[in-house]
Amino acid sequence: MSKRDFIPITRPTFGPEEEKAVREVLRSGWVTQGPKVAAFEKEFARLTGARYASAVSSCTTALHLALKAAGVGPKDEVITVSHSFVATAASIRYLGAVPVFADIEPSSFNIDPRRIEPLITPRTRAILCVHQIGMPCDMPAILRIARRHKLFVIEDAACAIGSEIRAGRHWEKIGKPHGDAACFSFHPRKVMTTGDGGMITTRHASWDRKFRLWRQHGMSVTDLARHGGRRPVVESYVELGFNYRMTDLQAAVGRVQLRRLGGMVRRRRVLARRYTQKLQGITGLAAPAEPPGVRSNFQSYCVRLPEGVSQKRVMTCLLKEGIAVKTGILCAHREPVFTREPFRAGTLTQSERAQDTAILLPLYDSLQTAEQDRVIRALAAALERR
Ligand SMILES: *Cc1c(COP(=O)(O)O)cnc(C)c1O
Repeated sequence: MSKRDFIPITRPTFGPEEEKAVREVLRSGWVTQGPKVAAFEKEFARLTGARYASAVSSCTTALHLALKAAGVGPKDEVITVSHSFVATAASIRYLGAVPVFADIEPSSFNIDPRRIEPLITPRTRAILCVHQIGMPCDMPAILRIARRHKLFVIEDAACAIGSEIRAGRHWEKIGKPHGDAACFSFHPRKVMTTGDGGMITTRHASWDRKFRLWRQHGMSVTDLARHGGRRPVVESYVELGFNYRMTDLQAAVGRVQLRRLGGMVRRRRVLARRYTQKLQGITGLAAPAEPPGVRSNFQSYCVRLPEGVSQKRVMTCLLKEGIAVKTGILCAHREPVFTREPFRAGTLTQSERAQDTAILLPLYDSLQTAEQDRVIRALAAALERR
């Protein structure tokens, strides 16, 4: 099998437009957080319908700042899922707070709203819900619980750029945000990429001001000094901050990727539908299902293997055919780090089952239908040999 025939799990789409955008930034001489970041933020806010958007270095740093803005601190508890990339739970630990893991719904792989309320204590400060694999969570149910208990809602939307929720007769993008803030990732494993990078959208002007302060070392330049014309500007450091900046090189790529987003998501949806149609014939295999009122961007295509089939064997079979597959999402509470870090949890039966029975198939907008057919044939063959 030649290298060209190998089908990866994902592949970013870049063209001459990204190259030109980067070259322009290099030639301008201004390479870190500057005019391109500001323009990217404005365009991102327009796309998601958010009032405020601030760019940061990753979704992990976005989550850290969003939870900090919610006032999360030592001894506080944040309800989230274990069934997520480890950064979700880690961001809670950055603030000394304790992650409280709720189980997931088996069909959507997202937090089961019915599991939230029994986990609430006087120490609960926020719900950190994850739109896993790009599938929006049940936001109306989550927001009802949050309102009832006066909790903040932070959305881990790392995978969910371009995903949508129905609001009456029209659709709203994830990141409007429906909670207090939503955090996005531009890692190459996601639908659009800037190499690395992140974005926080929020409905609160005061949070947005904090994000801008914290991402840049807590450096404050007063409005008077900024707008004061010819007088020299001396900055001051008013809070303990971080270096969580996005560079203008990344933002320039992000602006082009944002223009590609609609097309990339459309193509992913077509390919996902095609997978679902063609995999229907395989008994026991469960395709991802969009609950009513949501539309996924299909950041990944996650199937559940029939009962009793070894994930490892199927993955080995596909790899032999030159096809990359991955296990489903790992559970944080099963990783060695959480033998040392504190957490609390309800029963996590569905989370563990999802980790043990799901696999991710290759899906990206440049995947050809002939390549997709190869994946389907290889998967069917692997499952026949039971
Ligand atoms: C990828 C991912 C993150 C981390 O994003 P980075 O930009 O790599 O920091 C966080 N949460 C979820 C659910 C993710 O999939």
